[in-house]
Amino acid sequence: MNIHEYQAKALLKTYGVAVPRGGVAHTADEAETVARELGGPVWVVKSQIHAGGRGAGRFKDNPEGKGGVRVVKSVEDVAANAAQMLGHVLVTKQTGPAGKEVKRVYIEEGADIKRELYLGLLIDRATGRVTIIASTEGGMEIEEVAHNTPEKIIKVAIDPITGVQGYHTRKIAFGLKLEGKQIGAAAKFITAAYKAFVELDCSIVEINPLIVTGAGDVIALDAKMAFDDNALFRHKEVAALRDESEEDPAETEAARHDLNYVKLDGNIGCMVNGAGLAMATMDIIKLYGGEPANFLDVGGGATKERVTAAFKLILSDPNVEGILVNIFGGIMRCDVIAEGVVAAAREVSLHVPLVVRLEGTNVALGKKILAESGLPILSADNLADAAQKITRAVVKEAA
Ligand code: ADP
Ligand code: MG
Repeated sequence: MNIHEYQAKALLKTYGVAVPRGGVAHTADEAETVARELGGPVWVVKSQIHAGGRGAGRFKDNPEGKGGVRVVKSVEDVAANAAQMLGHVLVTKQTGPAGKEVKRVYIEEGADIKRELYLGLLIDRATGRVTIIASTEGGMEIEEVAHNTPEKIIKVAIDPITGVQGYHTRKIAFGLKLEGKQIGAAAKFITAAYKAFVELDCSIVEINPLIVTGAGDVIALDAKMAFDDNALFRHKEVAALRDESEEDPAETEAARHDLNYVKLDGNIGCMVNGAGLAMATMDIIKLYGGEPANFLDVGGGATKERVTAAFKLILSDPNVEGILVNIFGGIMRCDVIAEGVVAAAREVSLHVPLVVRLEGTNVALGKKILAESGLPILSADNLADAAQKITRAVVKEAA
């Protein structure tokens, strides 16, 4: 799960990470009030969306205009710029061409930037450790820096037993060419960020840019945090920060029904129980020349309601031109699946070919329910038969 910049900064601040003062606003009036409370002389109005590259982004209805992060010098300009952002769609390198509507802005005190650096914490799967990445190339995309100038990347893996030690922070601080009191400030910053990462079960904490101010302070000017979904149950305060309007509606819906759903680029929707069978189904669709539209594992103990939800989810993808249901009724009975499929097909008034392959407990009853439903369902006897039937049906439909 991702959160907004202003939320990440508030969380990090509670751990002792230095951040500028600021406040969130949902309207231009609120933005003005926040600006007055902060006091000037310089403010920054920042669009809050779950994507980076806002500074260099462009508003869809104003492609030539200014980006999603703007430095302004009066309270009136804070309000005016907030109004130009709120309710408008911002397109950045990370949003894709569709962009994202800005629903909140963050008003922050303007910082006196002397240097822009990069600091990131993530889990390195190779070492199984939280790894700190730092670079003197702040404000740039770290993937590009790593690709073009790998020598500018400092990488430090942290042993979970010892946590961050003095030699870790010194290695990073010297690598970032910090000097004097900045070294101590960076040590405090990094230690606090690491503590937040571990205690909050983060998957990413990215500070880009981390800045050194004219006064020699080291502060986070941007903040991105992502969390391990499987650990959210033990962080109610973090889970409460979820902004569903920023998430892919299909994945949100899938999560609500405990469905394992991954959207893909093909046109054959798949509904399968068990991850292994789901992958085998995708493989065999490809073998017969088709392309799966999704991976969907409805799980072992799915109910009729869950099957209906899964079915609707598949059909919500406009690319889907046919559906293959492949269920092995072990724990789950074939008649329950059949009832779910029939109910869902009726509810959404099915408009694409549907092939169903059932096997296992109560298979005869399941097939009977499908046959007597009056719906144009193609029944298949085995996996190869099912894959052939759905790929042929989709090709025929397209012709
Ligand atoms: P994004 O990464 O989405 O473009 P940032 O928060 O990194 O957004 O902001 C982009 C740039 O705007 C920063 O690199 C920095 O130069 C400038 N900026 C952001 N916040 C402030 C601030 N509080 N004071 C001064 N400049 C800022
Ligand atoms: Mg940034």
